[in-house]
Amino acid sequence: MDKQTAFRNLPAVHKVLGLPETQELLGEFPFSSVSSAVSTAIEQLRQSFAENRPSDAWWEEHSRPEAILEQAQKIVQQRFAQHLRPVLNLTGVVIHTNLGRAPLSERALRAVERVARGYSNLEYDLPGGKRGSRHVHVEQRICELTGAEAALVVNNNAAAVFLVLRELAKGGDGVVSRGQLVEIGGSFRVPEIMRESGVELVEVGTTNKTKLADYENAISERTKLILKVHTSNFRIVGFTEQPALDQLVELAHSHDLPVFEDLGSGALFDYMTHGIGDDPTIQGSVAAGVDVLSFSGDKLLGGAQAGIIVGKKRYIDRLKKNQLTRALRVDKMTLAALEATLIAHLDEDLARTEVPVVRMLTEPEAAIHTRCLQILNDLETDQGITRAFDLDCAREGSAVGGGALPLESLPSWVIRLRSRSTPVQVLFTDLRQVPSLPIVGRIVDDMVVLDVRTLLPGQEPLLTQGLRQVAVVHAHGSEGDVAH
Ligand SMILES: *Cc1c(COP(=O)(O)O)cnc(C)c1O
Repeated sequence: MDKQTAFRNLPAVHKVLGLPETQELLGEFPFSSVSSAVSTAIEQLRQSFAENRPSDAWWEEHSRPEAILEQAQKIVQQRFAQHLRPVLNLTGVVIHTNLGRAPLSERALRAVERVARGYSNLEYDLPGGKRGSRHVHVEQRICELTGAEAALVVNNNAAAVFLVLRELAKGGDGVVSRGQLVEIGGSFRVPEIMRESGVELVEVGTTNKTKLADYENAISERTKLILKVHTSNFRIVGFTEQPALDQLVELAHSHDLPVFEDLGSGALFDYMTHGIGDDPTIQGSVAAGVDVLSFSGDKLLGGAQAGIIVGKKRYIDRLKKNQLTRALRVDKMTLAALEATLIAHLDEDLARTEVPVVRMLTEPEAAIHTRCLQILNDLETDQGITRAFDLDCAREGSAVGGGALPLESLPSWVIRLRSRSTPVQVLFTDLRQVPSLPIVGRIVDDMVVLDVRTLLPGQEPLLTQGLRQVAVVHAHGSEGDVAH
């Protein structure tokens, strides 16, 4: 077929738009977008003719109005698709920074929806009928839960550390143990954040041992603060020493200096008594007399992204007045989610049933095992799935994640998956690209393992559905067809 004949056979845009099948698409997307997608689809065909000189049969098939509509549908759907979207976390990493850290509780979601949908008393004092402060909604609760005198919430913990250092120590020295000069997630390094905030870093002690006397010897006229950083994502074990927190506080106070502790994860829930990790709670650090503390809202706390600063009123008052605080402020959705999460933390059992991070971290192994067997059972009743994959349950370890409790491996159960037709890497990639809901697992011993601990309640059918979609492709492969 020559070019002219081929192009003359192409349907006009209005003809495609007039198809009865187009009505459905027009119900979902604006007319102008559908129309322009049809034009694009036709233009793509023209280009394809010029570049590939397709066979007559190919051209006849693809230039039908219905085929063009199908292509236009793909174009318009992609144009309107949300790029940020949910995935199934089956990595077993509970606080997975790349997958959005803490999933919110139902209570938090309801609270967000209520204030986001309309107007709220965000900065309005209802009894007084005058301007209020956005800080009041959570401050009291944070104080009640942590035992601190005052509190302030900013955008994230990195911002919290920056703000505290800048307000309390700018132009002076900040004393830090050499065992605590950590890097958290690449862009947050203690020496660099100190430099950025205008604080001179004074390192004391050694990598493994820092004594109280090391701090004492480093204190000078220039010293403005002693900084203690939680070594979130690593541990120094063996021949180690750090002074007790109350001794450090006593030393600082005897020189009229504040102690600032960056707790990193910071838990209100006492994970230690549930056999998880060796981290003291935030309440513990407050009780030890630390002047200012900061921690994340979306790590072990299980709420929204936020940096929570607590401590003595005279320091928190200074932070509230700093111009940076305005630049680092949180929005109403964050405050709503955080407040709801704090409410759940009023009672340990409530936190454990309601807050997903707390629930997942404390779920007993036997319960995970039962869920794993149920899921395996469901998957095995699907012939498409059993034809494409070898499956079983196995015992594995989950991680806390979020740079918290790095040595902790929580006994868990996983579905192990091997495709009969394709290498494990291909299966792993295909699972991440399931159109309905991507499945993110990990590879262990040449198998994809799906850790059931981080599968949220009610997501089981979505997992089955996703595996079924991948199975269709892989089953074809095993019959000798081209799968990829
Ligand atoms: C995670 C962490 C931070 C950064 O907190 P974000 O909420 O991610 O900004 C800072 N310090 C420590 C010790 C951390 O663990």
